[in-house]
Amino acid sequence: MSTFKAPKGTYDLIPPQSATYLAVREAIAAPLRKSGYGYIETPGFENIELFARGVGESTDIVTKEMYAFETKGGDQLALRPEGTASVLRAALEANLHKGGNLPVKLWYSGSYYRYERPQKGRYRHFSQVGAEAIGAEDPALDAELIILAVDAYKSLGLSNFRLLLNSLGDAECRPAYRGALQDFLRGLDLDEDTRRRVDINPLRVLDDKREAVQRQLTGAPVLRDHLCEACKAYHEQVRELLTAAGVAFEDDEKLVRGLDYYTRTTFEFVHDGLGSQSAVGGGGRYDGLSEMIGGPALPSVGWALGVDRTVLALEAEGITLDTPAATAVYAVPLGEEARRELFGTVTELRRAGVATDFAYGGKGLKNAMKSANRSGARLAIVAGERDLAEGIVQLKDLVSGEQRAVARDAVVEEVRRALG
Ligand code: AMP
Repeated sequence: MSTFKAPKGTYDLIPPQSATYLAVREAIAAPLRKSGYGYIETPGFENIELFARGVGESTDIVTKEMYAFETKGGDQLALRPEGTASVLRAALEANLHKGGNLPVKLWYSGSYYRYERPQKGRYRHFSQVGAEAIGAEDPALDAELIILAVDAYKSLGLSNFRLLLNSLGDAECRPAYRGALQDFLRGLDLDEDTRRRVDINPLRVLDDKREAVQRQLTGAPVLRDHLCEACKAYHEQVRELLTAAGVAFEDDEKLVRGLDYYTRTTFEFVHDGLGSQSAVGGGGRYDGLSEMIGGPALPSVGWALGVDRTVLALEAEGITLDTPAATAVYAVPLGEEARRELFGTVTELRRAGVATDFAYGGKGLKNAMKSANRSGARLAIVAGERDLAEGIVQLKDLVSGEQRAVARDAVVEEVRRALG
């Protein structure tokens, strides 16, 4: 073991479990790919100001959790704590919104960084797959994204998750609600930090997990009673479209989420087998974000699903994904001469599309066969000098144990037949 360990709050993805992570990313991306979303990749760090303005100066993410640093050249950067601000920044920079083809629909997959207190399901480095639909205000678009997330979870076999849904209103109706909420909150017994939050971002106080705070929130004004007609109608349409698609949801008027940019539709997916870190994904509409980062008005909606927690959710439901064995055929040479020859066959099989591995390092037969079994391969090809001189190799079925000689120049064909 080396003297180095993965940094606190991080962990490594290693085989065979890493295959599950890949499969989860793939399962989340698959419905997006088939629904008009194009792949986008942005840098792992951005100008810190993008997140300060985009995510919100008063959010925990920006004030406490960001990995911020100054480069030798004096640039103020931060490792990305989330995806939306970067994706919107990139779309604006590339003028994707000017192509006359709105909404611009994008999906992404990558690493995100938050300096949080580590615990199960909460890491300092984690993975998300996300999707953003930029530049259209249409309840069907909100519904589309939610449905695609639900379909992704279902395709993984998950069933123990719930969708929480809320509307945060818009620039029209939220200010009045904000004022009413502040009046209410200022009458409560709150600590100094929380009172400051009441001034800056009162909606966030509703999200406070502490029992002493929650207890006092009974009777707080709810946004639902303050929504303007346009927001009400919009939200009603989203709800109807979800219902028509057979997507169950729970209205959760306290759902405000930890980022400042959300307007109207907000949602979160929670999984009931995960304990305190139960949010497996979330998102919503962010109609004002583009303007907040210096772009034109571009009403948009998106989500990000956490890969790490989705894997934990699979474990909680006892689901093992059917990830195909990495190796189908394992080749075992007997002797130096056979090694060179059989390596040629390995290359030939690989070029024919058969997942093949080879007993490297001059192992003896017994050890090599152990490796063959461990690899998960269905078949082993064993050949010594004499076999090869006769133009044959031994094809062994590792499940049944049956072995037979096949002509070396028919190996690809024979292997394909044996693999079915
Ligand atoms: P958020 O934008 O904060 O709602 O994050 C979206 C999703 O990313 C969450 O629902 C989680 O599944 C995942 N996520 C966020 N932060 C972390 C973290 N520190 N560790 C693991 N997963 C996270």
